[in-house]
Amino acid sequence: MKRITILIPAYNESEVIEQMHEVLSQTCSKLSRYQFEFLFVNDGSSDNTIDLIKILAEKDERVQYVDLSRNFGKEIAMSAGFDYAKGDAVVIIDADLQQPPETIEEMIYWWEQGYDDVYATREERKGESGLKKLTSKLYYKMLQKVTKERIYPNAGDFRLLDRKCIDALKQLREQARYTKGMYAWIGFKKKEISYVAEPRAGGETKWKLSSLWLLAIDGITAYSTLPLKVWSIIGTIISLLGFVYLLIEIGKTLIYGSDVAGYPSMLAGILLLGGIQLISLGVIGEYLGRVFVETKGRPLYFVQESSKEKKLSVEKEQ
Ligand code: UDP
Ligand code: MG
Repeated sequence: MKRITILIPAYNESEVIEQMHEVLSQTCSKLSRYQFEFLFVNDGSSDNTIDLIKILAEKDERVQYVDLSRNFGKEIAMSAGFDYAKGDAVVIIDADLQQPPETIEEMIYWWEQGYDDVYATREERKGESGLKKLTSKLYYKMLQKVTKERIYPNAGDFRLLDRKCIDALKQLREQARYTKGMYAWIGFKKKEISYVAEPRAGGETKWKLSSLWLLAIDGITAYSTLPLKVWSIIGTIISLLGFVYLLIEIGKTLIYGSDVAGYPSMLAGILLLGGIQLISLGVIGEYLGRVFVETKGRPLYFVQESSKEKKLSVEKEQ
């Protein structure tokens, strides 16, 4: 019997955990050909999410959990899930029921057809502000321009991944994780399906504008060195303009003689160059910071407690 792990990262989701388990059980009871595992990764919740998960685990033997030592963010919570998942396929789904679990059935269908990464794209974003929709659209347009890998804008983490993909993802241990880009980077056979996003079943979104901004920067700097190259181009253009300006000034001085005017143009030049230098330093700093964090080579997360052992890559099971 094939095993499927449903991976659910949860951060302060006490309001929806039970309902989530209920709906998952319903969906999976229809799929009796498979052995299911519901792997909850508690991402350092400050509410009683973990207690609720433990109660579920006592009642339902399919429920497994990994309790992280603090809040590491969804990207790392998912990678902890990859490490512990035992299934032949892993389905990642949010705890808040925004993604209809019924879609899992369709994902499994395509998996059986030989696809390794069946990802569900959002058809409609119910209960999200117009600004969030617009900025995310613009962002993905721009990201696609600066990266070589194909980015799938409406595809989130709601997807089924074959064991092959999970074993590949487990090898990518960078700290600044942009999992959306990783799915594209590892390759394998992909299949797109769609779903209609629901509003949250309860609780609040964990994304603040600032954290979205940070994730957006991670996306660019993790997949492109273009921001570093741009400055050499801009620098060259400005130096050329400066040289032309110099020639004109020399010509003017030879013809009309010199005068003391020119403070405004000088100031403009200083401010322009100063600004550009500061920005380019910032860009270099952004990458250097990443190098610093990665060279520390720290583990991605620590586990407070878990209901199961980590799965080793080469583990052989019957
Ligand atoms: N999440 C997490 N760690 C975090 C933030 C979020 O594990 O630091 C989980 C959260 O519990 C949920 C999923 O990631 O299951 C998506 O979060 P949310 O619904 O808040 O994001 P949105 O749907 O608004 O993009
Ligand atoms: Mg959500």
